[in-house]
Amino acid sequence: MSLNELIPTLFFHFTRPPPLPTLFPYPTLSRSPPCLLHPSPRPAAPPAVGAPQAMVRCAHCGLHLPASDAVRGTDGTPFCSAAHRQVAERA
Ligand SMILES: [Zn+2]
Repeated sequence: MSLNELIPTLFFHFTRPPPLPTLFPYPTLSRSPPCLLHPSPRPAAPPAVGAPQAMVRCAHCGLHLPASDAVRGTDGTPFCSAAHRQVAERA
């Protein structure tokens, strides 16, 4: 076998073989059991919502506001602000 005959044969020995399929099991990633060493953080719980509050209506402007934020008049009438209480009680 001469060198001229051998060179084309050797060429294919020096080239890289085509990549083999990896057969990596991608679908199993989502079904794998949780890792005990690296637990994933749990999704944050929604912020706790307080108990519903009673709403009152300002006797002067009609604004609705929580009863705990209302300014009470002398007879207990709810107002949204001290200014509205003054205006309503002056009248
Ligand atoms: Zn008001």
